[in-house]
Amino acid sequence: MKLKNINITQLLKKYAIRPTKGLGQNFLIDDSALKKIVAAADVSSNDVVLEIGPGLGSLTRYLAAAAKSVVAVEIDKALLGPFAEVVKPFGNIKIINRDILKVDLAELFGVKNYLVVANIPYYITSALLRHLLESKSNPSRIVLTVQKEVAMRICEKPGNMSLLALSVQVFGEPSIVAKIPAGAFYPAPNVDSAVVRIDLFDKPKIEKEELDLFFKIIKAGFSQKRKMLRNTLSSGMSWGKEKTEKLLKDVDIDPSRRAQTLSMDEWGEIVKSVKQ
Ligand code: SAM
Repeated sequence: MKLKNINITQLLKKYAIRPTKGLGQNFLIDDSALKKIVAAADVSSNDVVLEIGPGLGSLTRYLAAAAKSVVAVEIDKALLGPFAEVVKPFGNIKIINRDILKVDLAELFGVKNYLVVANIPYYITSALLRHLLESKSNPSRIVLTVQKEVAMRICEKPGNMSLLALSVQVFGEPSIVAKIPAGAFYPAPNVDSAVVRIDLFDKPKIEKEELDLFFKIIKAGFSQKRKMLRNTLSSGMSWGKEKTEKLLKDVDIDPSRRAQTLSMDEWGEIVKSVKQ
């Protein structure tokens, strides 16, 4: 895919725009990074893509060239002018000037299959993941450029699990598919970034009706990372020590283990055993 380079700094100058730090405005200026992201997302001509925070449209152009259509949700009105200029040659892009966290995805996409591909503002990473994963209208695949450390945390394995890793891994399988150096952005952020791809399962690993219970249990488990499950769960869930020990032993989990050592499936076993 050969697209003419756009000069982001010139464009910002022309429209008298200064990147807003508070909105996470670090624009991708490196075409090889943009190509990497689109390739990692496996975008094809049948795909409808949701892009969050299109900014000046540098990623949007590559997505529009590869996909059937792109829906781009941008909060900053000031960027709409240069964005329109950049994406003018494409007729398959719809821009929505709103805060993505306030957009009802089920209303926007209904039962339509769609992908999410975005270089996101880092300040909304956790809230955005929840918004996308817990929506009634899930994307089938999510490919996000995020801080490298966050990408690594999302993909952790038992031994280093966290609330964030479990909140993603209950809905899909994450993997790091590319690294993006700070120099690929303008202005350059203080940290390196990585592209994390989450392939969503057909249905979450926990039954929909039990997701609230699952989140309550893992929050209790991780409330004091150094403490054993027999303590964190008995106090956080108000189960008492005896019931907690029995619940854990019934599913072959040693009550002296700590939350970060459990796999997603082991948490699933705990939820099942509570429901019995
Ligand atoms: N996609 C562009 C690129 O790669 O050059 C810009 C990425 S920049 C990291 C993040 C973008 O998200 C900015 O354009 C910012 O204005 C926008 N943004 C920040 N908060 C947002 C929100 N809550 N909803 C939608 N867009 C948001």
